[in-house]
Amino acid sequence: MAGTLYITATPIGNLGDVTLRALETLRSVGIIACEDTRVTRKLLARYDIRAELVSYHEHNARESGEVIVSRLLAGESAALVSDAGTPVVSDPGESLVALCRESGVPVCAIPGPCAAVSALALSGLPAGRFCFEGFLSMAKKSRREHLESLVSERRTMVFYEAPHKLLATLADFARVFGGERRAVICRELTKLHEETLCLTLDGALAHFTETPPRGEFTLVIDGAAPPPAVETRDALELARAAVAAGVSPRDAARQAAQSTGVSRREIYNQLTMNN
Ligand code: SAM
Repeated sequence: MAGTLYITATPIGNLGDVTLRALETLRSVGIIACEDTRVTRKLLARYDIRAELVSYHEHNARESGEVIVSRLLAGESAALVSDAGTPVVSDPGESLVALCRESGVPVCAIPGPCAAVSALALSGLPAGRFCFEGFLSMAKKSRREHLESLVSERRTMVFYEAPHKLLATLADFARVFGGERRAVICRELTKLHEETLCLTLDGALAHFTETPPRGEFTLVIDGAAPPPAVETRDALELARAAVAAGVSPRDAARQAAQSTGVSRREIYNQLTMNN
């Protein structure tokens, strides 16, 4: 019988942020697939865990993934960890999970820290619906396309960014979303210099122009404001006035729809509902 692949979340800074279940899992599996063995060894040393580490990162994902899956199929169990947080979320692991699914290898999540979720929770911005946008590409075309696709995004947006690219990204955000848009900048979450700044995009640009960005950043950006709603009631009033002046209900609905943008069918239905 195949072993299980455990997708195991690890701390995003503070080594205390590891769950009991993650520790039990890391202690019990045959192998731990990890991005940078030096980073994972630090965590294991802190909790006195000895395990075989197998390197799994974006540059060897294919070959290493095949080796890991063949060991899982042979009955060993494995944990997948990344350098920080939840594997697969802007981290390697997606193709390994897909390969396990194709091969019938059971996959189990051991949930825990994720910078995007902590930043969203800290932001105070609407969190009922949000979208995770990861890193913006540095390639001009895909960066522009990514940003353009978000111009009318109403949900709160969460981005990851490296410190040396932060200013350019804030400048692009201000250009595309407007400088007045609310932006919550979470820096070094769970670490000594943790900081959460609730600003506007222009304010964030001014702040980080003055104070050069250092550390790890997660950005939470408010969604676009809804377009000003033209009340159906207003459109209906226009149509009623037209009917009173002798225009047929059909034409009155069409004219009111044209001048307000409210659906013609909706106006017509309401206009004729009580007749
Ligand atoms: N898988 C990870 C997770 O679940 O959060 C994210 C990995 S991604 C390669 C690394 C990015 O996450 C960083 O560049 C930064 O944008 C964000 N990040 C990670 N740790 C952070 C922290 N302590 N504070 C703020 N952002 C952090």
